[in-house]
Amino acid sequence: MAPIDLPELQRLDAVHHLHPFNDNAALAKRGTRVLVRGEGCYVWDAEGNKLLDAFAGLWCVNIGYGRKELGQAAARQMEQLAYYNSFFQCTTEPTIRLAAELAGLAPGDLNHAFFVNSGSEANDTILRLVRHFWAVQDKPRKNIFIGRHNGYHGTTVAGASLGGMKGMHEQGGLPIPDIHHIDPPFWFADGGDLSEEEYGLVAARRLEQKILELGPDRVAAFIGEPVMGAIGVYIPPMSYWKEIERICRQYDVLLVADEVICGFGRTGQWFGSQHFGIQPDVMTIAKGITSGYIPLGAALFNDRVAGVLKDVGGELAHGATYSGHPVCAAVALENLRIMREERIVDTAREEVAPYLAQRWAELGEHRLVGQARIVGMMGALELVPDKGRREFFPERGKVGGLCRDTALRHGLILRATYDSMLLSPPLVLTREQVDELFEKAWKALGETA
Ligand code: PLP
Repeated sequence: MAPIDLPELQRLDAVHHLHPFNDNAALAKRGTRVLVRGEGCYVWDAEGNKLLDAFAGLWCVNIGYGRKELGQAAARQMEQLAYYNSFFQCTTEPTIRLAAELAGLAPGDLNHAFFVNSGSEANDTILRLVRHFWAVQDKPRKNIFIGRHNGYHGTTVAGASLGGMKGMHEQGGLPIPDIHHIDPPFWFADGGDLSEEEYGLVAARRLEQKILELGPDRVAAFIGEPVMGAIGVYIPPMSYWKEIERICRQYDVLLVADEVICGFGRTGQWFGSQHFGIQPDVMTIAKGITSGYIPLGAALFNDRVAGVLKDVGGELAHGATYSGHPVCAAVALENLRIMREERIVDTAREEVAPYLAQRWAELGEHRLVGQARIVGMMGALELVPDKGRREFFPERGKVGGLCRDTALRHGLILRATYDSMLLSPPLVLTREQVDELFEKAWKALGETA
């Protein structure tokens, strides 16, 4: 590998590259970190630091870095047929095979895939196609989506509108009309004296109140991440999703699970919906479908919704040049083959997650940690000023940022949302690496407090 001129790269980056979700002026002063290589659960930066990536890139590198088979699958498909679309009464073999594979993998009768390039576009797709689903059944007014404050559904206009991030709504005049939000289930901040399971029901019934306030004939769908990721891994009580499902069925509101993070093993099951025992009508996926090796997303529809779209929906006025790109589909198929044949989800759930949970709970004993929450292979440490009280730091994010930077100095990548330290390692993390993670995180907490 040719030597890297890091100062020159940082200079070019500062001048020419606008980074997403960054204060670009501050980053230009600080100098961006350039990553150059990955293997298993580790990445290396241009200064030669080896980092344990406990965030799997951005919740996505589920099978770990450096799996040559995925590159080989991409190369084979590029050499054979680099591109064809699915517009003009045609498509390609990997695209068809992937649609069929997903039908087998996804719970229930989510048998129909619409391909896009990202999670955001998947959520744009469901916004349009679900509204179309109701409109062609003579219910054009049943067009309202209900999401949750602080939910994250992507960065496009529809995705960011469905999401409930205040900062995103402030930029660009969002949300677009006919999208409403309810409060998320976050017992730590909001549960008061209720038990977690009691609180789960209370939080779910906010949906019922909102549907009744708007009128059931106006509400098209409810969308939620099974576990809310970006805001801080809010793991709802087990009572929450079952009650949400009951409410959706009662008022004929479609249930949309955004599984962009939770899908493909993150919660210990193939899909987060399976962990909570619910059956969505519509699901959006991305990230883990290719383990992040190449961009791909999809919206999955059940037989009812797809049946209406196909039989009475007429021509779908929706699609992208790269919907069902054959190279992305070939990489996804190879990724899913590896996950299945190497039993990556089962091994993570049965052999690694319980140990990770045990060590995560030990981190929870640190005096800076108010709550250590974890499900499968995703978790958060809630850093607080006073361990005995469920209260946040007055200046939110400062301590979390410090802890993240300290962890990085010890060779560990954790993400911080405000003062929640987020965990989402590759699913192939070993027990030895769990120990390494624990030691580095403990040191980081110690030096932060
Ligand atoms: N939905 C969820 C739950 C996500 O976490 C994300 C991204 O992190 C998205 C949607 C958007 O996906 P993408 O960044 O691929 O557009």
